[in-house]
Formats: sequence, structure tokens, C-alpha cells
Amino acid sequence: MTNVMHMSRMYAPTLKEDPADAEIASHRLLMRAGMIRKTASGVYAFLPLGQKVLAKVEQIVREEMDATGAQEMLMPALQPGELWRESGRWDDYGPELMRLTDRHDHEICLGPTHEELVTALVRNELRSYKELPLTLYQIQTKFRDEIRPRFGLLRGREFIMKDAYSFHTHQESLQKTYDDMSAAYGRICERLGLDYRPVEADSGQIGGSVTCEFMALAEAGEAELVHCTCGYAANTEAGDCLARPTEHDVPEMQKIATPGVHTIAELAAFLDIPESSTVKALAGKSDAGDLVVLFIPGDHELNELKADRAVGGFTLLTDEEMEAYGLPKGSMGPVGLPKEARVVAARSLQAVQKWVVGANEDGFHYVGAGLGRDFEVDEWADLCIVQPGDSCPECGLPLSGARGIEVSQVFQLGDKYSRAMDATFADEDGTETPFLMGCYGVGITRSLAAIVEQHNDEYGIIWPFSVAPAHVCVIPLTVGDEEVQPAAEKLAADIARLGLEVVIDDRSERAGVKFADADLIGWPLQIVVGKRGLAEGKVEVKLRRTGEKKDIAFSTITELLAFAKRSGGITKSGTGYFDGLFER
Ligand code: ATP
Ligand code: MG
Repeated sequence: MTNVMHMSRMYAPTLKEDPADAEIASHRLLMRAGMIRKTASGVYAFLPLGQKVLAKVEQIVREEMDATGAQEMLMPALQPGELWRESGRWDDYGPELMRLTDRHDHEICLGPTHEELVTALVRNELRSYKELPLTLYQIQTKFRDEIRPRFGLLRGREFIMKDAYSFHTHQESLQKTYDDMSAAYGRICERLGLDYRPVEADSGQIGGSVTCEFMALAEAGEAELVHCTCGYAANTEAGDCLARPTEHDVPEMQKIATPGVHTIAELAAFLDIPESSTVKALAGKSDAGDLVVLFIPGDHELNELKADRAVGGFTLLTDEEMEAYGLPKGSMGPVGLPKEARVVAARSLQAVQKWVVGANEDGFHYVGAGLGRDFEVDEWADLCIVQPGDSCPECGLPLSGARGIEVSQVFQLGDKYSRAMDATFADEDGTETPFLMGCYGVGITRSLAAIVEQHNDEYGIIWPFSVAPAHVCVIPLTVGDEEVQPAAEKLAADIARLGLEVVIDDRSERAGVKFADADLIGWPLQIVVGKRGLAEGKVEVKLRRTGEKKDIAFSTITELLAFAKRSGGITKSGTGYFDGLFER
């Protein structure tokens, strides 16, 4: 590429001030750098510089998808409601689905994801086991009427996703594609310069059972995760909770008056013991109508999804129902429960012999309630939200906590959609069998924002080389100067000829304004051409990532960049930001 972009002609309106509604770095900086603009809540336009980055992110994703053998296609955003009725999701998806009615009164939705559409597309034409496996993907705009669109590109109502769908005859084939896709997702994160963790996740709305989320670690992330030095990582919604309750050992069960104590915090303070030495009780009903009382370590929270699964649907009792069973709110315990109650406790409490727990009498608790002596537990289950400090389920060490941005997710769907939508193939015996399916999504716009979350400083964005809107910015200090300007133009053209992307800031702005904008926009390398330097045959080169500056002979700068490029120093990984340029 030999085109040099000229800032004087570029539509890149930078802002000096932070937009009032921008709470996090990526939103703030993408706005300020003139890359995106909001047009409605959760809806953004990409201005030219933002579009350049977006195209690079898409291209990296495309290359990695193509390398797995997946085939790119493009599906429409408008989807017939009928298909969603077939799968059952017209009702299940809820208000996040953007629904409309056309002039003929037909139900339509704007696709939030494309399982239904792709299944309907292939079901009549993908007929034989001989054509399988097959993976199709697209990079396309998705719509979700999020209850709380926020954080700029991180949670939009309109956003770009790469979604892929695979079709298989048998589980091993699905597993193989799932593994290939997971590996590709790891490479995508690396090439985007993201510090990420693949984490155990819950399959949520889409369904299926085997799934993994790729989390970019960032404080701004909405997901909480736990991870371990052994490599284990999980979304706290999904991870196995091996809490570490502490034993409060007293020989005999004692009933203690605890006037006014209703919460775990109050109980722990009253007895002067840690919350982890107490046991929390929650009473509810299963879908079958049983009374179920759950017990979990006092310092943990109930994971409702896990409780649902353990019990067969779990709904907390209302105050009236509690009263009807004679259960006192805030001092329930396992001793003296109604006979019909199913007692289900968190597995980690199995190791705790003496419980500090409610006495089923308002204003009273037991300490030293003996498991197997004073009460019995009917079932043990994984019930809590895992939290930092719990034991790693793989190696037992205490887990650390972090926050993450879910940039992508892979799922094994099994035959959920193919069965519901009657999508079958003829197997070797000619028997019609539903496809096994996988689906795999990368949030393109969310990934772009995640990159900025991880790569910024007080001055602006620090683009990884792989996705920077251009690699080098040449800044002539005095525009119009008859030596400086042509020298800068020539330098820019020479660099472009090396195959690097170059922009020249030829605006007649003060140097300070140009430097500030260059740092804000985040070009990986800046080259300042000034009158005094030129007289000495030098330009100043600055690495955006480290802020390092060095005077380099004008005559050798292109040679140096060519060398850096040849030796792979600038392109070997996503984050190769001209690393080591100054060492040579
Ligand atoms: P979340 O839990 O954050 O709402 P999700 O699990 O519903 O996301 P998926 O259905 O797995 O999302 O979609 C695949 C990818 O699309 C996500 O990993 C994410 O990167 C991206 N994505 C989902 N919702 C949004 C959104 N509202 N704005 C931007 N990107 C999104
Ligand atoms: Mg997801």
C-alpha cells in the first residue's frame, strides 16, 4: 500500500472533554478519538478511523475462521417469526427480541442470533451424512433490546457478531469442531492483543450443555470469574463451588438467645465469629411442590440456577408460606424442621461437623448443632456461587477473583434446534436423524472495546499493531514550511512503500494539539519531523506503548523500519508494537 492518509482531510473529530455518559475507558476514548458516535441508546456509528479498526478485527476473525475450514456466508437480519415459533424461542426469548409486524401482519424479528435461520436454511438441502460435517459463518449486525444498554460498545442494542454454526452426524465430530473453534478463538484473542481466559460457563438462553466463554480480563467487565494458577477458570455463575467453611467447634449443641438477629452478618457479629462459620438456610418449593430447605455456608450466596437443577425447580417461599409452615425468617435451621421438608445442603458443609445455625424459633440460634447427631441432611449438592478464596476444583488451591468481558463463546447445542425444527439427514442406513449442532459467537464490536479497555493510558488508546487504524503517524511540526513539509511527505511515502500504513498529520494545528491527538488516537509509532531536527538530519521517533523517544537519523529511519518489519519484530504477534525497535 502506498497511500498515505492525510489528517487534514480525514473525518476524525476528536474531543477534548470526556462525554458525560461515558463511564468506562473504551467508551470514553473511542468517542474522544473520533472513532464512534452514539446515535441512540446502545446504537453507535463507526466513523472512518473506527471503521478501519473494525475492519481489521473482522479480518482477523475471518482469517481464523477460514483456517478452520468454516465457510463465510451472509444471512439476513430480518427473520420470520414462524421460525422462532418452531423452535419455541418466540415465547422464550423475551423482550430482548426486537419484534416487528410487516404490512401483511406477519411477525418478524431482527435477529439477535441465527440458530433458527441457519437450521431452516440447511434443513431441506443438506441431506446426506456424506456432506457432513459442515460449518458456516457470517459477520453480521445483531439486534438485542438489552434491558440496560451501557458501556458504549460493550453492551449495545445493535452490534456486530461473528456467528458460526456447525452440523454433524455424531458427537465425536461435533467435539472435534468445537475443539477447533475453541483453539481458533484463543488465537483470535491473541492476535487482537487480548489478555484472556477460557472459562467454564453456563449455557443460559441458547441451550445445550457444553460451553466455554472467552473472557478478556478487565475491571470494566460485567462478568465475575475465578481462576487458579493451575489454569482452571470459571464464570462465578457456573463454576463448582468448593467453599471453605470454618468449623466453630463446641462439644454440645447449645441454644442461644439471639434477640434482634436476622441476618448472617448480625449473627456473626453477635457471636464474634466469621460469617464462614455460620450456616445460612433458604426455604422454598420444588416444581413438584415439595418443601425444600437449602443450607449453604454463611459467607456464600445461593446460585439459583444450581438450586433449580439440584432440587428440580426452586422457588423461595413467600412470607405467608413461611408462616404457614411455622418457619421463622432469619432463624431457620435443620433441627426440628417440618417432617416433610427435604433437607438439601451444600457439599462443602459435609466437612463441617458442628453447625452454627437457626433454631427454628424467632430470636434463637444453635451453636454446635451436630451433623448426623442432632439432624440429618437428605441430599448434598453444589448450590453456591463460587467466590475467590474457595478451593480450586482441579487442584485445591484457593481461587483468585477477577472481572472479565465475555468476548466470545462456544456451545455444543446437540440436537436441540434440529429436533425442534425437524432438520434431519439420511445416515448410512438411510435413517433420518436430526443433526448435531454447535454454535460459536465472537462479539466483534465488543472485542474492539475490550482491546481498548486493556490497552490505554491517561493520554488515550494504545492500539496493538494488529488492529491499529494505521501503524505510523508522521507529524510535521510546521506545516507549510518549505523544508519540513516536503520532507515529512517524502518520509511518509517511503514508509508506506515498505508496506506499512501511514498517516501524516498535516493539519495546521499547534504541535501540542497534534501530539495530544496522536496519543489519543493511539498510533503505535509516531515520527516527528521538525526544522531543527532536519537541520541535524534527525527525526524524533516515539513508541506509543512505552512513551520511549529517540532521535534517529532521517536517512536511516526507513531502513530501520524495513529491518524491523523483515525481522518480524513488528508483525509477529498482535501486540508487536515495533517492540525492540530501539534496541537495534
Ligand atoms: P451477555 O451475557 O454479555 O449478554 P450473551 O452470552 O448473551 O452475552 P451470546 O449470545 O453468547 O451473548 O453472543 C455471542 C457474543 O456476542 C458474546 O460473547 C458477546 O461478545 C457478543 N454480544 C452479546 N450481546 C452483546 C451486546 N448486547 N453488545 C455487544 N456485544 C454483544
Ligand atoms: Mg454468551
